Amino acid sequence: MIRMMTEVNIKAGIESILRRIDEAYARRPTHIKAPKPLLVAVSKTKPVEMIIEAYQAGQRHFGENYVQELVEKTQHPDILQQCPDIKWHFIGHLQNNKINKILKLPNLYMIQTVDSEKLATGLNSAWQKIHSDDNKLLSILIQVNTSGEEAKNGVLPSEAPALYKHITENLKYLQPEGVMTIGAFGFDYATGPNPDFISLINVYKEICEQNTLEPDSVQVSMGMSDDFENAIEGGSTIVRVGSAIFGFRAKKNV
Ligand SMILES: *Cc1c(COP(=O)(O)O)cnc(C)c1O
Repeated sequence: MIRMMTEVNIKAGIESILRRIDEAYARRPTHIKAPKPLLVAVSKTKPVEMIIEAYQAGQRHFGENYVQELVEKTQHPDILQQCPDIKWHFIGHLQNNKINKILKLPNLYMIQTVDSEKLATGLNSAWQKIHSDDNKLLSILIQVNTSGEEAKNGVLPSEAPALYKHITENLKYLQPEGVMTIGAFGFDYATGPNPDFISLINVYKEICEQNTLEPDSVQVSMGMSDDFENAIEGGSTIVRVGSAIFGFRAKKNV
């Protein structure tokens, strides 16, 4: 693949984001009992060689949100050879008819975007077929539509705890690890804390209480390039950062 000698220094970018994560984590109020956030480097639309560069800088968790791109990148010979310990997060909208395309992909780590009972059921039975011999579970997050925008996927905040409980009790091949939101873009932090983050934290608290889970054992995936520090201060345990590491993207995505 041809790439212009990049203006983007990926190693420096990752180091800088990790430092900012540490700083935001240090600022987080101590009453919030959540672990230090995991950085998921969002590599959508970016070439394989950038992913390898990030991997060589020590990054292990990567996020993609187009099925076809995930299919190609996870199986790319250079990735397979040079990034044996890579961990892929699917962070895009997943349709039921694409489930079988992604569950067998190498080094699939987590699906962050389970947004309906139907999808959860489909994932559970597909995973069961593949893993009937081992006891491996599929890690998932429930995507919550905290902003209430119609164009956004996710269950309503009021419905998320019930879906969580349903999965825990009935879908034995899924391992629900927590919740995720994208939230509204362009929130002005001068006006106060982001209501999307507050809403997701409330859902998370309700899930912890209903299922008697330790607060630090449930993941909260929120925060992107523009707002990951605010998200961390609010209790995020997974941040998904793309353009601040890999540079701006051509605008094919949402
Ligand atoms: C693209 C994307 C990101 C990363 O966005 P940046 O603003 O580039 O950091 C995070 N999460 C999801 C779900 C995305 O689609």
